[in-house]
Amino acid sequence: MVQNFRQAFWNEPMVFELGNNRRRGFILPKAEETIQREIGEIDKLIPSNIRRTKPPKLPQLSEVEVVRHYTRLSQMNYGVDLGFYPLGSCTMKYNPKINEVLAELPGITMIHPYQNEETVQGILEVLYWLERWLAEITGMYEVCLQPAAGAHAEFLGALIMRAYHKLNGDETKRSELIVPDSAHGTNPASGTMAGFKIVVVPSDNEGCVDLKALKEAVSEHTAGLMLTNPNTLGIFERNIEEIAKIIHSSGGLLYYDGANLNAILGKVRPGDMGFDIVHINIHKTFGTPHGGGGPGAGPIGVSEQLAKFLPIPRIVFDGNRYRLDYNRPYSVGKIRSFYGNVAVLLKAYAYILSLGAEGLEQIAEVSVLNANYLVKKLRGIKGLTLPYDEAKPRKHECVFSAERLKKQTGISALHIAKRLLDYGFHAPTIYFPLIVKEALMIEPTESFEKETLDKFAETMRKIVKEAYENPEKLLKAPENTAVPRVDEVKASHPRTMTLSWKMYQQKLKEMRNNY
Ligand SMILES: *Cc1c(COP(=O)(O)O)cnc(C)c1O
Repeated sequence: MVQNFRQAFWNEPMVFELGNNRRRGFILPKAEETIQREIGEIDKLIPSNIRRTKPPKLPQLSEVEVVRHYTRLSQMNYGVDLGFYPLGSCTMKYNPKINEVLAELPGITMIHPYQNEETVQGILEVLYWLERWLAEITGMYEVCLQPAAGAHAEFLGALIMRAYHKLNGDETKRSELIVPDSAHGTNPASGTMAGFKIVVVPSDNEGCVDLKALKEAVSEHTAGLMLTNPNTLGIFERNIEEIAKIIHSSGGLLYYDGANLNAILGKVRPGDMGFDIVHINIHKTFGTPHGGGGPGAGPIGVSEQLAKFLPIPRIVFDGNRYRLDYNRPYSVGKIRSFYGNVAVLLKAYAYILSLGAEGLEQIAEVSVLNANYLVKKLRGIKGLTLPYDEAKPRKHECVFSAERLKKQTGISALHIAKRLLDYGFHAPTIYFPLIVKEALMIEPTESFEKETLDKFAETMRKIVKEAYENPEKLLKAPENTAVPRVDEVKASHPRTMTLSWKMYQQKLKEMRNNY
């Protein structure tokens, strides 16, 4: 049965508009005289031009008022804890709460990166072993945890490629980085930032790298190839060993974009496929929160010959103590302050430890099963097609096209995505990969059960039926969400966005003046 959905809507004022300035939300006890004197001393250390002359205008709210405010706001939000979230390529899986509990322990939150390494042996041990586990999982020699995201790791990977070719006296000659036309936009962007010229190779009829085109693209100018496997169509690049041979025999390096690692966890390792550099999106594969541009982590793994280029410091273990090693003359330098996003990394450590080797393998099995189950349920819906060999099994995700539906009804992938919100589902990724017109990229992950997948498939069927029978309805969607249909352009334009309380106040003033 298609579910009814109506997202909570609260006409909620901002926290600064709540409360009453004649009330006090909280009264701090008066500090003892010695402490008052100390605070006075500290105050004097702050230069007068940046010292506050008036107390800040904090909202005066009691604890329960604050709780109500944020609870109401949380009901206007949507997340994996609330429902299906098939945002393709992003692996929006459930983040177990035990990970959050561990990352909030005072032993974790109260340590400081400037502490002497002797006093932070515990976290160094966690990070050291996380590096070792990720090396084992990906089949790489050494792993570095510093990059803050996949794109950040791609940039680092490109720098490592440069350093490698430079050491071979090849830096200026090897100026080209090859990426397939199915690649994520960050691949060419990171390569360009690192100074490479991007060479795009097309996909063949089966949705894989076209080997003939790859051979033609490769030359003595090739620095390397960036590839994700399975690729963004959810199809496993079966010729990966051949691809590795082509790249390596030309003197280039093979970079693995690990965004799709979920599909092959414990089954096959990028290192064994021939990749020299691998990144892991911790916030995708390893169950840590993801989204809103918040902190993630994108550890990078390399083969033995590239280990000397990794960022410093490296965490080393002498059999007794952990310490930070800065003595790496070939290192590309630092890519991020301190050790990376430690709280996120700790959650991944907990996730791996709680699942174990068998559990990790089951992730791959169930996520692939779920994706192929959805393929079976969605295939044959009038107006939708599954480009690139319908009969071929997918890995963790599938990409449908609404091109035919658009031609017949005017209803596009965007309209389907918006209408799904009305039925209480997060939208799939749309218009990516670029090689599929009107793309709907669906990744169910392992976190959702058959009943939810059935409901989603039935809802998709219903929406397509609406497209043929009552397209007007879809043009207005979503109507059941806290925030109804937004103007696509205005919603992402910096001039119309109100990002702070100050901007909001300014806008209110302007609006009042205009009326
Ligand atoms: C998410 C993603 C990236 C970028 O990773 P971030 O961690 O978001 O920077 C790169 N490639 C693919 C295929 C992705 O899905």
